[in-house]
Amino acid sequence: MFLHHLSLANFRNYLQLELELPGPVALFQGDNGQGKSNLLEAIYFLATTRPLRAGSDRELVHWRAMEEPIPFARVAGAVRRNSGDLKVEVVIRADRAERQGAVLAEGGVAPGALSKRIKVNGVVKRALDLIGLINVVTFSPQDLELIAGAPALRRRFLDIANCQVDPRYCRALQQYNRVLVQRNHLLKDIREGRQPPETLEFWSEELAKSGSYLLARRLGTVATLNRRIDSYHHRLTGTGKRLRMSYRSSVEEAAARDGPPGPHPDPLPRGEGETTEVEQQVELFREALRRYRRRETLQGMSLVGPHRDDLLFLADGIDVNVYGSRGEQRAVALALKLSEVEFMQAATGERPILLLDDVMSELDPARRRLLLETIDNSGQTLITATDLGSFSPEFLARAALFHIEQGAVTRMTGRGGDPLPE
Ligand code: ATP
Ligand code: MG
Repeated sequence: MFLHHLSLANFRNYLQLELELPGPVALFQGDNGQGKSNLLEAIYFLATTRPLRAGSDRELVHWRAMEEPIPFARVAGAVRRNSGDLKVEVVIRADRAERQGAVLAEGGVAPGALSKRIKVNGVVKRALDLIGLINVVTFSPQDLELIAGAPALRRRFLDIANCQVDPRYCRALQQYNRVLVQRNHLLKDIREGRQPPETLEFWSEELAKSGSYLLARRLGTVATLNRRIDSYHHRLTGTGKRLRMSYRSSVEEAAARDGPPGPHPDPLPRGEGETTEVEQQVELFREALRRYRRRETLQGMSLVGPHRDDLLFLADGIDVNVYGSRGEQRAVALALKLSEVEFMQAATGERPILLLDDVMSELDPARRRLLLETIDNSGQTLITATDLGSFSPEFLARAALFHIEQGAVTRMTGRGGDPLPE
């Protein structure tokens, strides 16, 4: 898929922007703080309706716009897909009512959530309807944390990758998180004697049902990524180390732990394909919850489920999170992101838009070369950099070059850039 037009109003430091993207590869050069990351974030926002870095939508609205009677920010794009052209628009705004209330309450802009309105080809849609229409894979130096950081970041990676291609995953995730909060409250109440222990059954079953879909999909995702990641890693590093991902399931570990099995161990159902996988996960989940019942009640919290899992990256069996050097971790992060492109392509039938933010500065010359070779014209790639010195002349010749300064984007002349494929 190709984004060929992007239009912004009041989005971060862009007051107004109309940008034509003429070819599959676009390179944006600009000094620090000019709006390179913001531009890529706008495209990410259009695809996911979520901010890439910010905690809240509020941060996306230009500061100056927040002083307007009705603050708003708008991101719109025209996308060419195999199935046809698509116009998508997301508007964030503070409603008049909310703002009036806020003015009365505190004499300023409401700290609460702003509303979001989504349109696809001019028709109002829900956020869930947008899923899969525009797919993006982002990569920035912060993604090193995917490998070097805490498990929550890796769970988020799996959630975002799956949510982008599967609305059912998104719904199951929302449901799971709601159930988790309820169940944790209840576990505390049971521990304090405020609720009888039997009240847990219902919430355990709800947790197992929504959680097992997440587990089945995450396992499938890891299997798909595993088909690619080793060869990307090999290409990026030239080492003979074999890289493998492994999903660490707290449910599986708990269900396999020594201890008294639950009172009703049902036989595993047999069926076909994904349903079997989900059913097997439900069964494992139930068993894990039965075995952990005492422990969970004592601690007053849910101890097993997708919210406690992790994703391991093993180079020749050694955990890169624990033992890898920064450079090694960076190469694994990049191999993961390149594999994610193929995961999405497999799931949607179209190549996602690759957004590479300031990645060249962090790579050594050999890896830069390999990365640039990987960026072919089969999909769209938008890449930012502070200086053009790290790009090969061949790459510069085939990219459309843009300069960013204080939220304004200008096309640099004298360069061609391949046209978009029809
Ligand atoms: P670097 O090379 O340092 O990564 P960059 O070009 O990627 O820089 P951005 O992260 O895109 O820079 O940020 C550009 C500017 O946008 C920053 O100076 C930041 O203060 C500003 N900015 C961020 N949010 C808003 C907002 N809501 N309203 C106005 N300006 C904003
Ligand atoms: Mg930046």
